[in-house]
Amino acid sequence: MSKGEMNANKHDEEIEDIMQMVRDLRDADYHVCPEIKWEQDGCPEVDENGEVIGKWDVACSCNDFDQVIDRLRELKYNENWGCK
Ligand SMILES: [Zn+2]
Repeated sequence: MSKGEMNANKHDEEIEDIMQMVRDLRDADYHVCPEIKWEQDGCPEVDENGEVIGKWDVACSCNDFDQVIDRLRELKYNENWGCK
């Protein structure tokens, strides 16, 4: 195995580690996704005008974590990375 290959593997491992850390944060008990809470509560919230706040107005914060994971995945599979 060449030094370059070793570095590439190390690079992938590091990114995989970080992706897992972000997944753990997303799934941690203290991350309460507004959308999941909305579903679990089973009673739609009502705004000051008495309008039911719809499911699609409740932002799913899991997506924020997934976006970070996606960015890391792009980095991981970017073959040009580190070749400069
Ligand atoms: Zn969510």
